[in-house]
Amino acid sequence: MTPNALLSTLQSQQNWLITTHKGPDGDAVGSVIAWAAYAQACGKDYLIVFPDQPAAYLCPFLEGYQWEVFQADKHYAFDLLFALDYNAPSRVGQEMSGFVANYPATKVMLDHHPGPEAFCELTISHPKACSTTEVIYKTIEELGQLSLINLAMAKGLYLGLLTDTGSFRFPSVSAYTHQMAAHLLSLGLAHHEIHEAVYDVNSVTRLQLRGYAIAEKLQLHPAHRLGIMSLSKEELKRFAYQKGDTEGLVNVILSIEGYDAGVFMMETEEGVKFSFRSKGQRFVNAFAQAHFNGGGHQYAAGGFYEGTLSAALAKLESLIDQL
Ligand code: 5GP
Ligand code: MN
Repeated sequence: MTPNALLSTLQSQQNWLITTHKGPDGDAVGSVIAWAAYAQACGKDYLIVFPDQPAAYLCPFLEGYQWEVFQADKHYAFDLLFALDYNAPSRVGQEMSGFVANYPATKVMLDHHPGPEAFCELTISHPKACSTTEVIYKTIEELGQLSLINLAMAKGLYLGLLTDTGSFRFPSVSAYTHQMAAHLLSLGLAHHEIHEAVYDVNSVTRLQLRGYAIAEKLQLHPAHRLGIMSLSKEELKRFAYQKGDTEGLVNVILSIEGYDAGVFMMETEEGVKFSFRSKGQRFVNAFAQAHFNGGGHQYAAGGFYEGTLSAALAKLESLIDQL
């Protein structure tokens, strides 16, 4: 697709519906903010629709934007649907996936997950990009519109960069990433404020939950250079679990010397949610897809198991040789 084809689609349609994946993370929220601010800069009307409520620490970023959680019985009349930071309708969750897949408007994907499914009329997919906000920035650059980027857009773009790169440390970070960050800072962006808003908002129970998981629930498999952490519903309740409290916890495993793979498992009402992380020569997305109904990036993937935590753990342990 040429930049001109995208530009004429954007220019000819007034009402933009902006969506992202379930359990929105910093890149998801950063992307929708950046795209909503871009819509405003282009004189468009927009609404951000999330499949579920974003974690509390991300909500301050949404102040001043029009957003809501998807309502299955509501009629959404828009000319364009944007799918940001996801590559398949299933990623918005069961409630909303049919809505997205069949939405009777032009659909535009902006994303960086490998293997985009063909549900959008326009698919802008850069699996090498470190974040979807980098894809958005690159797209705006290709449209010759970098001058439209303002401070509001910069905040969203930086939020995605920061959180999807582990604070600019993952291999996905490129010279382009830093050039983009430099541009955002040159607009007056207070990058330290974004860092503090994301990383310095712990509750005491959140820290204690993480401490407990590391101290009591970390199972090490040195021969496989793998660590597994799991938390039951009861344990989560004991530490007054709030959405987002375990985000990034799995990365602690990769910080252990000599370990290059980590799995975090969390029991929910529906089943067990998996987070896989790896580094170096080790990849986890194919394993997540093959065995736990999931997928994602080479170094960061997710999955799900319908059943109890102990059954999920047993299945994982039986497959350790393949991970
Ligand atoms: P997290 O562990 O943070 O939930 O997810 C890590 C990465 O895996 C994210 O990039 C996310 O997009 C992807 N991911 C998480 N869950 C799933 C899933 O069920 N299916 C697919 N395809 N990707 C997932
Ligand atoms: Mn992302």
